[in-house]
Amino acid sequence: MSGETILIIEDNEINLRLEKAVLKNQGYNLLTALDAEQALLILKNNKPHLILMDLQLPGINGLQLTKILKENHQTKNIPIIALTAYAMKGDKELAEAAGCNGYISKPIDTRQFPKDISNFLLQLSETTLK
Ligand code: MN
Repeated sequence: MSGETILIIEDNEINLRLEKAVLKNQGYNLLTALDAEQALLILKNNKPHLILMDLQLPGINGLQLTKILKENHQTKNIPIIALTAYAMKGDKELAEAAGCNGYISKPIDTRQFPKDISNFLLQLSETTLK
């Protein structure tokens, strides 16, 4: 429920600040990146338990970055939850096709968001135990 390390990849600093505040309050260790390049650098030296991936990133977007991470043996097992601002039909399917393990739409609900994250981590730990 806490102590896990989460990498948040988000280019919008207001969203990033909100996501950080909500998750920090739950006791998670947080790493943050504003774009794919920063995320890849961080992942060279860190193995977070979970990645929150904004799909709309400048340059290499979140779908492309997810594909890169899922093709790399060092990062392919890190679960990725997609975050997208657009309630666009088909976004969820695109995220799943790229290899995302979950999906949360923005703007985040500050009450529901930490519950979704902790449920997701709980499911993962149960899957790992099986
Ligand atoms: Mn964005």
